[in-house]
Formats: sequence, structure tokens, C-alpha cells
Amino acid sequence: MSKEQELSEIMDEFANAKKNASIFVKNASENGDIVIGSFCQYAPMEIINAPGFYNVLLCGFNYDPPIPLAETELPANLCPLIKSSYGNILGKTCPFAFYSDIIVGETTCDGKKKMYEMLGKLKDMHVIHLPNVPDKERSLSSWQAELELFKDALEKRFNVTITDEDLRKSIHTLNIERSQTARMYELGKYDPPAMTGLQMRSVLTAEYFMLDKKNKIEKTERMLQIMEENWKEGKGPYKKDEHPVRILVSGAGLDGVIDKTIKTIEDLGAAIVCYEGCCGILNMRRPIDESDPDPMHAIADKYLEVPCAVMSPNTRRFEQFMDTVKEWNVDGVISITVHACDPFDIESKKLEDICEENEVPFLHVRTDYAPGDEGQLRTRIEAFIEMLENR
Ligand code: SF4
Ligand code: SF4
Repeated sequence: MSKEQELSEIMDEFANAKKNASIFVKNASENGDIVIGSFCQYAPMEIINAPGFYNVLLCGFNYDPPIPLAETELPANLCPLIKSSYGNILGKTCPFAFYSDIIVGETTCDGKKKMYEMLGKLKDMHVIHLPNVPDKERSLSSWQAELELFKDALEKRFNVTITDEDLRKSIHTLNIERSQTARMYELGKYDPPAMTGLQMRSVLTAEYFMLDKKNKIEKTERMLQIMEENWKEGKGPYKKDEHPVRILVSGAGLDGVIDKTIKTIEDLGAAIVCYEGCCGILNMRRPIDESDPDPMHAIADKYLEVPCAVMSPNTRRFEQFMDTVKEWNVDGVISITVHACDPFDIESKKLEDICEENEVPFLHVRTDYAPGDEGQLRTRIEAFIEMLENR
């Protein structure tokens, strides 16, 4: 098989990960394996994976049927991710929720917290209480205690013992995945980039749906190798002498608006070179400390660093934002927020101020999972990219 063919097959596997995962999860559940549904980067995957349980993402990214259904119970003026997630479970249109033995939620934004209270009536739930302050002196011990409660709840509910050794193995595996994601972002640093932003998105989403971690790690490794080699041979996604404008995309809830934002940005000739947000580069660089004698402490320590806008003050995110812009040689920043996501919408203004101080062009677009604003978004993104091209 040629390298091109091999890469194309790997990328297809990433793109189809969610579809294939529904069969995987059904079989796993029928075999008696434990499936845990989760919604967020704060869900401690190392603890879930340690006893061999599978973790699946329950975030809804589709509009119809879940959102109109969810609006019969939830306020319409709520983030589409929350409504879509709830509506998919209410209407039984999410196979992953159907096969989940238990759902884990975390008290991130208010909408999610309150939705979990309603979800608890539909499915067995465990809610992890997340501190608001990411300052380790103030929050680390209470956060670790919450994670210990979660571990205890899994042990009791499923009659297993999660040992430190299990946790260490799981930390090691997921550290490999994290470091591969960081290497993937490195491909965006090349000029022209060795990978498109759309391809990166596909790999990021696959993290939650390629449940055979060994296979996921092997395929990602091969993808990175081939993409690096292709770039050196001038066969990357862009021609060698092509220099598309370089965009950093920031935001949350993006998987429900990929076509009208991320795909549009790249269809219009720009290249997304990096992402900033909870699954962006900032969260992928530092691994969980494998030398920590207490693996639960090491997990808590790392997860408190997730740069999510629900934290206040979210200083770490802002301190490192310009470093990312400079390191990836970014021409412009596009902040994408979804309707009614107050945490990210409000922090977007802070990012705009930082960009203004540093003379980096910035565009903030607000959108929703509902169709109808594609044309307007395209016009704004097109004008922004044209402005960057003319600079
Ligand atoms: S943006 Fe925040 S709340 Fe949303 S998935 Fe990421 S960490 Fe969780
Ligand atoms: S996108 Fe914003 S409002 Fe929606 S769940 Fe995430 S943090 Fe909460």
C-alpha cells in the first residue's frame, strides 16, 4: 500500500470514529464491559480507563431532533451543546448514552450543572464538583478529594478495586495520547502547515470515540510520521510555495459548528494552524507527572490546569495566549463562541484586548447549531481573511 493510501485510510478511520464507536460500544456493553458516558475535558479519563472501563463522549453536536425536543423542557436561551446533549438522551437518539452504565458530569457552567440535575432522572449519574478557582493552593486538595469520591463510587458501583498500579498504567497510556496531540499541533507550525485544521479536528474528536487506545495510538503515530515525511518531500496538504494566512481558532462547543466555521475558514483559503481552548495546545503540552508517588494527586494536579473559561480568574489561559500566537506565527485569531455560552463569550473580550495590545487581528463570531447563519458567517470570515491577505 502506498503511503498516500495508508494516510487516507487512517484519516478515514478518524473521520468515521464516532460512527464506528456506536457498534463498538454496543458490543462492549453486550459483552459485559462497563461504559461510562461523560461530557467534558474535566472527566478524569485515567480513572475511568484504569479498571478497563470505556469512556464515551455524550456531548450533542446536532440540531434536529435533539434541540427542539430539549426546548420542551429546557429554556431555549441555553447553549446548544447543553440542549443537544440533553435532547439526545431524552429522545434516546444517543447510542452512547443508551449503553452507558453511568454518566459522569462535572459542575462546570451553570447550564450544564442544572441540566445534570434533570438528567439524573433519566440516567444513573455521578456529578464531580469542580472548584471555580484554578489556584492549586486553594483548590487542589478539595479537587483531589472529589476525584477520590468518584473513584470510590466507581469501585462500589461496579465492584472493582482501582489500584495505584492500574492508575499508573492508565496515566502512561493517556500521556502518550496527550503527547501525540501536542506533536500534531507542531505540524501546524510548519510553513505551509503539514496538516489542515479540519484534519486536526477529526483527530481531536476521535480521541473520544476510538476506544481501542492501542489502535488509536498506533494510527496516530503512523499519521504523524507520514505527514512529517510528506511535508519534507513537498507533498503536504499545501503546495510548497503556498503560504496561506495562519489562523488560531479559539473557543468551545465547536464540533457542532464545524462546517459553518472551521471548514469555511479553510475553504476560503486560510489555514487553521492551532486550536486554543480545553482541547487546544495549552492543555496537551504538560503530561501527568508519572513520578508522583500518589497517582490521584498527579491526576488532580493536571486536570486543574484545563484552561476552561468556567474557571475564575482564568489567568493561565490569558498568560499563555500570546505565546501560542507567537510560536505558531499566527496572522489572525478567530474566536468562535456558541449562543448563550457566557464563560467563553465574556473571555473572548479579554482575548480581543490582548490581540489589540499586540496588534494581532481578531475576529469574534457567535453562532448556534441551528442552521440559517451560514451566509452571514461566511461573509464575515471572508472579509477577515481578505484583510489578512492584504496586510
Ligand atoms: S470548554 Fe470547559 S466545560 Fe466545555 S468541555 Fe471543555 S473543559 Fe468542559
Ligand atoms: S459551550 Fe459554554 S455554555 Fe456550553 S457547555 Fe460549554 S462552557 Fe457551558
